Amino acid sequence: MTGIEEIRKILRDLGIGEESLRDDARLRADLALDSVDLTQIQIELEDRFATHVDLWTAHDLTLGQLADAVGEPVPGAGAAREYRDRGWWRPEFLDDLVLGTGVHDGNRAALVGGGRTFTRAGLGAAVSGCAAGLSRSGVRPGENVLVQLPNRIQLVVLVLALIRLGARPVLALPSLREHELDTVLTALAPTALAVPARHRRFDHLGLAERLRERHPSVRTLLVTGATGPADGQVRIDDLTAAADPAPAEPAPAEPAAVDPAPSRAGVVEAVRSPSDTALFLLSSGTTGPPKPIARSHEALGHLVRVSAAASELTPESVFLAVLPATHAFAFCHPGILGTLAGGGKVVLAAPDDAVEAMALIERERVTHCALTPALARQWLTARAAAGTRDLSSLRVLQVGGARLDESTAAELADVFACRIQQVYGMSEGQLNFTRLDDPPEVAFTTQGRPASPGDEILVVDGEGRPVEDGEAGELLVRGPGVVTAYHGDVGAASFTADGFYRTGDLVRRHPSGNLVVAGRLKDVINRGGEKIPADELEALVLSHPGVRAAAAVAMPHRVLGEAVCLYVVGGDEGAAAPSLREIRTFLEGRGLARFKLPERLVEVPALPLTAVGKTDKAGLRADIAARVEAEA
Ligand code: AMP
Repeated sequence: MTGIEEIRKILRDLGIGEESLRDDARLRADLALDSVDLTQIQIELEDRFATHVDLWTAHDLTLGQLADAVGEPVPGAGAAREYRDRGWWRPEFLDDLVLGTGVHDGNRAALVGGGRTFTRAGLGAAVSGCAAGLSRSGVRPGENVLVQLPNRIQLVVLVLALIRLGARPVLALPSLREHELDTVLTALAPTALAVPARHRRFDHLGLAERLRERHPSVRTLLVTGATGPADGQVRIDDLTAAADPAPAEPAPAEPAAVDPAPSRAGVVEAVRSPSDTALFLLSSGTTGPPKPIARSHEALGHLVRVSAAASELTPESVFLAVLPATHAFAFCHPGILGTLAGGGKVVLAAPDDAVEAMALIERERVTHCALTPALARQWLTARAAAGTRDLSSLRVLQVGGARLDESTAAELADVFACRIQQVYGMSEGQLNFTRLDDPPEVAFTTQGRPASPGDEILVVDGEGRPVEDGEAGELLVRGPGVVTAYHGDVGAASFTADGFYRTGDLVRRHPSGNLVVAGRLKDVINRGGEKIPADELEALVLSHPGVRAAAAVAMPHRVLGEAVCLYVVGGDEGAAAPSLREIRTFLEGRGLARFKLPERLVEVPALPLTAVGKTDKAGLRADIAARVEAEA
């Protein structure tokens, strides 16, 4: 609906006849609207256009002038009031929700990692101290700061400190490289980059230096693990270790809608509002490199609360974070933030050491852990090697990010003697969980139902019409935790005009009411939970001089579920296509994240086409699946 149509609808609802609703009709002189009507119109306009027009002081506007003043309706703007009225969006800040100062016992352990343990009070003090240090280092409220750190205590402290300061952390997977980060830096112009000096044999500091040269917005590099920081570098270890000597401040008695911004422990805070962006996540995307997803305090706070409830997190819970903590599943769905908000303890570990994870479960009495199916399969192998370790504290294994098959789910439940909770969600903010009291056949074969009572779910066919119950269709979602646009309005095709997010996933409803993920419309390869948009990879492969055409498709993989198979047509004059090795080296040289590199390459004389002349990806997927099966 355009602006003027929306205004006509508001007036029609007030009882104004259709014949009067001309563009040049004046509100007071021609339509005889009284003061009560004008107030009502102002409220409706604020809801639908997220803008305020003062109809009292303005001269008598015509419909056309009013439409010019308000612009286009903002999808979801009207919903915000309902979300607040229903208590789904609350006037609280994410750092206050998570640190819950005064709500839980400050002497309880809250965060464990790298041989250190922070109590709740210690964590609160470290966050305040870090915020003060960031402030002294020149980080200002409203600035964006890219955070690309592995699962360490410093990551949690730094992100909460940035939020407290009113600066906006941008959470990036440590596996992202120049190709992806260039796009993110261009979109968000961060003033600082937080990186490890080195991580997994990769020189992150070197990459950060190169990015700083290309992106003038970047003033400061915040570094962990560096010995002698150079100019323009700040040691995160100093910021996070030197907890401010001032004790953790008491929680405000009643969270205010607008923080009056007293200086906490020496931090000059911005005047913050719960509707402000608290942090940015990055979409794993349907097309192209990652897109920024702005998460407000109130929307993310809602997701943290409802997902923690669905996971039955309590003050006794101990969450083991093994998935990369800069991804939403481990960070805030409910993960680290949900556990801390509930008063529980978070244990940080590296993703690829399942044996170490078992040792941590025993030592820290872990109750909850979130895994991808690929990691879950590694855990099954590691369990045998872990021998007699006591894992009896484990209550819930959450598995998501990719589809978990029924037999692995049943085996996990049996081997780990705990509940299996399937999680189907997305960084865009719609989260489904099987519930812990779902019977095993439901928990093992479905991907859950919305955690938020406010979520609207549509399952539609290619024309956008709802399908019959039980049939597969694309999932469209809208709700208090779901974004209605990407930051900067990129990727607008991912949202409908009325603010639903098009997931690109095919789902059907199970008789239990839960959703089953039945497939995918989007051209993405889901490599063990890490997503690879095919178009992004193909565009880079095509820039190789020895390649005339390329198509990336998912190939079945025993452990990862899916891996990338690249079909290529060689260069001109019958020249052979580059080898898999050459292509991988080439792509890495172009700064592509390593998890996106193809695992297999098949040279073909031409790519097969569908009847309408598109690359026949379904045919290629069937081809590689048949080859893999024949080889097995
Ligand atoms: P991300 O934003 O990185 O969390 O990726 C979200 C996407 O991962 C979803 O749109 C799905 O395509 C996929 N996904 C997440 N969880 C599951 C699941 N449990 N089963 C199948 N696919 C999933």
